[in-house]
Amino acid sequence: MKQLNSIRILTVAYCSLWSAAACSATSTPEQPKPASAATIAAQAKMLAALPSDNGQDVAFVNRGFIASFKDPIVRAADGHVVWDANKFDWIKGDAPPTVNPSLWRQMKMHTVHGLFKVTDNLWQVRSLDGANMTVVGGKTGWILVDPGMTKETAAAALNLINENLGKRPVTGIIYSHSHPDHFGGVRAVIDAATNPPIIAPSHLVEETSAEYLTAGNAMGRRASYQFGTGLKPGPQGYIGSGLSLGTSPGTITLIPPTDMIRETGETRVIDGVTFEFQMVPDTEAPSEMNFFLPDLKTLFISEFAICTMHNVQTPRGALVRDSLKWAGYITEALSRYGDRSDAVIAGHCWPRFGNDVVKNFLSLQRDNYKFVHDQTVRLMNMGETPNEIAEQMKPPAAISKEWSTREYYATYRHNAKGVFQRYIGWWDGIPAHLNLYPPVEQGKRYVAAMGGAKNVLREANTAIAKGDYRWAAEVLNHLVFADPGNHNAKSLLADSYEQMGYQAESAVWRNIYLSGASELRGQVASKLPLSSPDIAAAITTAGFFDLIATRLNPERIGTRSMTMAVDVSDGDKSLVSVHNAVLVNEVGKSIPNPSVTLTGTKAQLGKLLLRKMPLEQVEADGLRISGDRAALLALQNALDVPPLDYPIITP
Ligand SMILES: [Zn+2]
Repeated sequence: MKQLNSIRILTVAYCSLWSAAACSATSTPEQPKPASAATIAAQAKMLAALPSDNGQDVAFVNRGFIASFKDPIVRAADGHVVWDANKFDWIKGDAPPTVNPSLWRQMKMHTVHGLFKVTDNLWQVRSLDGANMTVVGGKTGWILVDPGMTKETAAAALNLINENLGKRPVTGIIYSHSHPDHFGGVRAVIDAATNPPIIAPSHLVEETSAEYLTAGNAMGRRASYQFGTGLKPGPQGYIGSGLSLGTSPGTITLIPPTDMIRETGETRVIDGVTFEFQMVPDTEAPSEMNFFLPDLKTLFISEFAICTMHNVQTPRGALVRDSLKWAGYITEALSRYGDRSDAVIAGHCWPRFGNDVVKNFLSLQRDNYKFVHDQTVRLMNMGETPNEIAEQMKPPAAISKEWSTREYYATYRHNAKGVFQRYIGWWDGIPAHLNLYPPVEQGKRYVAAMGGAKNVLREANTAIAKGDYRWAAEVLNHLVFADPGNHNAKSLLADSYEQMGYQAESAVWRNIYLSGASELRGQVASKLPLSSPDIAAAITTAGFFDLIATRLNPERIGTRSMTMAVDVSDGDKSLVSVHNAVLVNEVGKSIPNPSVTLTGTKAQLGKLLLRKMPLEQVEADGLRISGDRAALLALQNALDVPPLDYPIITP
C-alpha cells in the first residue's frame, strides 16, 4: 500500500508537468507517457500538411499478393522468436497521438506481408524479414536476390516460395550490397546439389568486414538505438524502421561470392535469365549494384532508391556516403533503363509499376539527394555552419508533396550535416568550438552558470510547458552529465526525448529518442551485435591486425616493445610489431628472431586476442605458440574488450 501511494504521489507530481487532458492517471515515471498537448498539436499540424493520397501506394503494396506464412512465428533453434508476421497488426486505422501521422501511414504499408507476384516470372517476399527477398524464375530453378537477413527467416521465405510456386532448386544467388540484411540468410538457401553461383558487387566481403568489424562495437550499440531493438512494439514504443518492420534477431551468415561484378554494363545469364548490372558504389553502401532484367522490363534498384529518403550519414555510424555520386548514379539508371522499365523493385519497400511512374519516382529520388547535396554546399560556401544549415534544410514543395522522398528513415537535418562533414569535416569553424570541454566538464560548468540543479530543472520545466523539448533536452542533458544520480533530471530528460520521439516523422529518430528515454528510465541497455562468425571469418589477416591495433591500451602496454611472426593457415603470413604503444602489421614480412611465433587459424587468433582466452586453452584449441610467453601475455593484457552496452545517455 505504501508503495502504491508513493507511485501515486510521483504520478501526481509528473502529471502536473502535462496538461490534465494528456496525463493518464495510471502513468508512472518508469512507464511511457501519453502524448503531451504540444505533441498532439504538432501531429495535427503535420497531418494537415501531408500530401494528398491518391491510393497508389496502397495499390502497389497489395498488388499480386499470393500468400503469407502459415505459421506467423519463425523461431531459432533455441526457441527464441526471430520473426512474428503478426507483430504489427495493431498498426491500422488513424494514427494515435503518440505516432507521427506520416510515419504511421508509411508503417501501415510495411505491415502488408507475404509473397507477391511482381511480373511474369518475378516475385518478392516482403515484410517477412529486415529486407525483401526477390525471386526470379530461371529455366530450372529459383534465382534469389538478397537471400534474407538471417538463416531462420530465409528458410521460412524459401519454404513460402516453394509451397506456393512449386518446389524448385536454387540455381543462382545475388547479393545486392554489403549490408547483412541483404545476404545474412544465405546458408539456409544454398543448394549443395546445384551449387549455384553467388554474384555480388566487387569488394563486398572487404567492405562488409570493414564496416561491421573495425568500428563494429560502437556501431552496434548505436544501431540498437537506430533500430530501437530494446523497445517494445506499440503506439508508445517501437513501430519499425521506416524502410522495413525492423531487423530479425537470428543467425547472420555469409558465403563469399563466386562471381564479382566490377563494371556497369556487365551482363550475366543465370539459369537462362539475362541480368544487366549497374555499379553504384559509395551510395547507400560502399559496395552496391543494381540490375536490369531486359526480358521482364524490370529494374532492381537495390537500396539506393526506395520509399523514403535514405541516409547520407547514417546515425548508427558509417563512413559518410557520397550524395553527389548517388544522384549521378540515379541519373545514369534513368538514362540506361528509364525508357525500358515497366516496373522498379528494390531490396526494401514495394514495387512501382508503369513506365511514367518509374521515371517520375527515380527523378524525384535523384532530385532529393541532389537537393540536399547542392543546398548544403551552397550554404556552407556562404559561411553557414552545420546546425544553421540543418535548420534551413527543407525540400522544395515539388519534392515534399511526394511520399517516397520523405523523412521516414533519414532526415534532411542529419543528411545535411553528413554532406558538410564529407566536404570540410565536423568542425563548424567557430574558434570557441575548436576545443570544447567534454560532456561532464561542460555539464558541471553549465549547471553552475545557471545557478545550480534547481534552476536547470525550473528552466527545463518551463521549456517543457511550452513544448520546447529540444531546449529542455539540451539543458537537462548538461545536468544529467554533471550529476547522473539526479533522478528528476533523468526523468524529465526521458520525458523530453519521448515527446520528440512521438513527433518524429523519421522512424530512426523516433527509435533513438525513445531508446534514450527508455534507458534513462532504467530499462536495460540495448545491444545489437553486428558481426557474426561468418563475417568475422571473412576478414583478411591485415584487417584482423588492424582491428587488434585499435584495441591496444597505451597505458597498459607502456613502453614495451615486441615482435610476432604470425603464420595464419587461412590467411597471410605477417610480422606484427609493437613499439611506442602502436601495433603495426606487415603482411608477408619476416625477421630472424621474433619475440613470439604464432601458428594457427584466424578463429584461433581471435580467441587469443579478441576474446582473450587463456593461452593454454587456445593452445588446446590448436594454436601453436612459441617464444616469449610473458611478452604475449603482456600484449593480451593490454588489449581492451569493448563493452557492447557502453553508456550513451549518461557519462
Ligand atoms: Zn537494407
